[in-house]
Amino acid sequence: MILADFHTHTNYCDGKNTPEEMVLGAIERGMEAIGFTEHSYTPFDSRYCLTQEKTKQYIEDVRGLQQKYADRIKIYCGLELDSYAPIPAAGTFDFYIGSVHYVKFGEDYVVMDEGNDNLRRGAELHCGGDIYCIAEAYFERVVEAVRRCDAAIVGHFDVISKFQELDPIFDENHPRYKAAWRKTLDALIPMNKVFEVNVGAISRGKRTTPYPSSPILQEIWERGGKLLLTGDTHQKENLCFQFEHWAEEIGKMGIELRDYTVMF
Ligand SMILES: [Zn+2]
Ligand SMILES: [Zn+2]
Repeated sequence: MILADFHTHTNYCDGKNTPEEMVLGAIERGMEAIGFTEHSYTPFDSRYCLTQEKTKQYIEDVRGLQQKYADRIKIYCGLELDSYAPIPAAGTFDFYIGSVHYVKFGEDYVVMDEGNDNLRRGAELHCGGDIYCIAEAYFERVVEAVRRCDAAIVGHFDVISKFQELDPIFDENHPRYKAAWRKTLDALIPMNKVFEVNVGAISRGKRTTPYPSSPILQEIWERGGKLLLTGDTHQKENLCFQFEHWAEEIGKMGIELRDYTVMF
């Protein structure tokens, strides 16, 4: 198994380690490659994202490490680009993860991945209490997140389900929920993108399985989508977190995972 992690965060945002500590951790973990994907500058919510100034430093830092460690590990300078963030100039980054963290209703950004009370509030305020309307708006936005920047990786496809184990808020078998994600797959599959199988919520104790959920995984696979394990890693100890285990588990579903070289 080629070990590589293409969803990683550092202390430029909400991660614990410097990029160099992450690179050293990656070498120690036996990884062939690491992709840095810091949170894009997102002007309407500065809590976890790069500032414009830090974006420049981040790029310089990672580019420097690419040279310094060129003979030991492949390093890619990427960005997790939020669907409402400004798109950087072409050529600035090696690749993007296109991610939805908010859905905008009027001027209100409803946060998708910080607890289900945000979803409840959004549903009350904008959808007359209908939670499936939030899910439909979320999945519609996922298409835009990928299309607008030609992202290499579809970020945490069903992150809206992040807290389902701790605080169930909708029925994932509901026909409207299924129809919403299927419609998004209809748009994304022909775009030939890589879907991440993200274990970040497991390493942070929020879930016991990766997202996408297994019915979605199965369908992506059956429709010819490419699947790649990622860590959404916020500290060096969690690089390629349980990748061997999850590769085996997903293999038992008859699903074959790809490695990072599929992107380059
Ligand atoms: Zn994200
Ligand atoms: Zn992330």
